[in-house]
Amino acid sequence: MKFRIAVLPGDGIGPEVTVEALRILRAVAEIHGFHLEWKEYPVGGAAIREQGTPLPQATLDACLKADAVLLGAVGGPQFDSLPRHQRPEAGLLALRRALGGFANLRPAICYAAIADCSPLKKEIVSDVDLLVVRELLGGLYFGEPRGSDADSAHNTMRYSVTEIERIARVAFEQARKRRRKVTSVDKANVLETSQLWRQVVSIVAQEFPDVTLDHTYVDSCAMRLVTNPASFDVILTENLFGDILSDEAAVLTGSLGMLSSATIGGTVDLYEPVHGSAPDIAGRGIANPLGAIASAALMLRYTAGLEQAADDVDNAIREALANGCRTADLAAGGQATVTTSEMGQSVECKLADIVDRRYAYHAV
Ligand code: NAD
Repeated sequence: MKFRIAVLPGDGIGPEVTVEALRILRAVAEIHGFHLEWKEYPVGGAAIREQGTPLPQATLDACLKADAVLLGAVGGPQFDSLPRHQRPEAGLLALRRALGGFANLRPAICYAAIADCSPLKKEIVSDVDLLVVRELLGGLYFGEPRGSDADSAHNTMRYSVTEIERIARVAFEQARKRRRKVTSVDKANVLETSQLWRQVVSIVAQEFPDVTLDHTYVDSCAMRLVTNPASFDVILTENLFGDILSDEAAVLTGSLGMLSSATIGGTVDLYEPVHGSAPDIAGRGIANPLGAIASAALMLRYTAGLEQAADDVDNAIREALANGCRTADLAAGGQATVTTSEMGQSVECKLADIVDRRYAYHAV
């Protein structure tokens, strides 16, 4: 198998964490015997400096031809004075639009070794392993008409049956590979769009009789995320609710640096850590690369279809943390025990251990 990725390191800590994600992808390719081909392209502030635009045509063309895109982060205070459409973030938004992914997947896993880092009690977050599946191209952010005048402003929340069906299928398919539970989020007691959402999700659920479906109102879901987050498996939600709930779920994991994401369903899938370019720590080699590494694992899972390899990377992260590896953001007031690249190296070593153990087990 040949797997080609366009790598867009971007700005700030973006290049520092991306190089560690690539380290792991290279190791996986070697272990599983596939040919990994990657090339780096500028995006965001790096592209503005080089070519005067946050998304050069050559970068976009390369992304559209790749099997998947791995992005670091964009942005920085030196670009804040530029008009909005010329800033680094405009490049990322244009890229997401061009790639056309309608499903944004954000896992929130609380690893036992760092459960203390969460602001919630350890016993509440300990067993959290959930996946937020958010619809990304519809709803209030895109609905027309929108506008404002001196006295008022308005936006339109609109969903079609087709838009709901396709995102619901993604959620049920993912649930099938997990603990087979989907919680669909809406506000069906108030909104017509939510009533349609509930109706369509219930019909799609009939295609997946092995998956349990429950419906919950968004306000109740927000509460349950902090009182009983371990009760969720897959959370299926529309765009606006998903934006808010996925950030709330992120807090459970202990650090912004832990969070990964995938945007799938368009022409080419896009993988990126959730955090930004973190200019306050950039260039010091102290950033947490696990969100970027976990994003690479999602790429293996969703685009390359290498479930076992993806599980191995997730387990290698778990073992590196259990072994005491802590970047500064995970040190909970104490001393960091590893730099960015040492964390990457530890995950790589644990990955090799996991694979060796499996071969040894099968050889017995
Ligand atoms: P941020 O995510 O960059 O940083 C927020 C805080 O979290 C900072 O204190 C930072 O040091 C810390 N942090 C973030 N990632 C970390 C990691 N991997 N390891 C350790 N600590 C980490 O958000 P911000 O400060 O609001 O934004 C900085 C820049 O990034 C802005 O220009 C913003 O527009 C941009 N941004 C880009 C993206 C993206 O590329 N997807 C997302 C959010 C923000």
